[in-house]
Amino acid sequence: MRTMRAVVLADDGPLRVEEVQLDGPEAGEVLVKVTACGVCHSDLHMINWSRQAGVPSPSIFGHEASGVVEEVGAHVRSVKPGDHVITAFRPTCGTCFYCVRAMPQLCERPDDRERSARGARPRLRLGEQPVQQGIGVGGFAEYTVMPEGGVIKVRQDAPLDKVCLVGCAVTTGVGAVTSAAKVEAGCDVAVIGIGGVGLNVIQGARLAGARYVIAIDTVEAKLDLARAVGATHVVDAGRGDTVARAREITSGYLDYAFEAIGLAKTVEQAFEMIRPGGTAVSLGINNEQVTIPGRALLAEKKLIGSIFGSVSVKHAIPRFVDLYMNGQIKIDELISKRRGFDEANEAFEDMQAGTVARSVLDPAL
Ligand SMILES: [Zn+2]
Ligand SMILES: [Zn+2]
Repeated sequence: MRTMRAVVLADDGPLRVEEVQLDGPEAGEVLVKVTACGVCHSDLHMINWSRQAGVPSPSIFGHEASGVVEEVGAHVRSVKPGDHVITAFRPTCGTCFYCVRAMPQLCERPDDRERSARGARPRLRLGEQPVQQGIGVGGFAEYTVMPEGGVIKVRQDAPLDKVCLVGCAVTTGVGAVTSAAKVEAGCDVAVIGIGGVGLNVIQGARLAGARYVIAIDTVEAKLDLARAVGATHVVDAGRGDTVARAREITSGYLDYAFEAIGLAKTVEQAFEMIRPGGTAVSLGINNEQVTIPGRALLAEKKLIGSIFGSVSVKHAIPRFVDLYMNGQIKIDELISKRRGFDEANEAFEDMQAGTVARSVLDPAL
């Protein structure tokens, strides 16, 4: 057991830095010393949801982490102490229904079920209280213990303080384009919501050879950043009819629209703006009811979801790191601010104000 500092949500008040106890690693698990962890909109979503639901138990959020393997449990073969790694918030087991059918992003996580079925002691504790590893990682902490399938080895020369973004934003955004939608060269793509994920949809569209890449947001600074990573057109969603504008740019033949916010209204807009036979892709955590006109289905319009880029993380994450190291995708430009754990609340305030693309929390600051 070790005691470590972590950012904890314990009640409906602000996040606090606490001393938390961490056990492990057990067989098949890996202890990672966290170098950096990006602050993602999904964390905010889950924090707000927890606060509304009355915070059932303390939680550590943060699911976009990089670090160095400190210790491995029995039977771990893919990593060893000293390896540089990125966490995957949807670990893969390699043996369940989805893993063996090449859809590992939907892994059923049998190890977790087995752990809770045998009533295993919670791995994380705050005093006597069990602490949840929010969104599967608990990366706003000095250490995390993950199943082997959620720890991906990456090249040693990649800067860990930057490539943590591959642990969510890059993989979710680029993968949605290349793996979920499979955008072909010459197609037109729009993306609604220019946060960390939306910017990577733009990068994915550029990599796929899209003709037009239309960025849609209400914040001017985000639209500037969208241009910097490859958007050919930007649309200020605060002015005029967004759907009409996207259609006008593509003469009514928009092939793909990605929604990276998680609101029914914007998913509906994405679906509305695509051409007959086109595809709308929903990426954000969305708890709302989406309504689409049934008539549009006869025009072969498709609405699909994508989780974690619909990729096989063990395969894709090291390759996305290579793309960054080759200069084919940008990450440095997406990191607006680095903060210590004691500034976690400010990092979420920046996100809500729309003043940052991505903040990164660094346990050493
Ligand atoms: Zn995320
Ligand atoms: Zn599985």
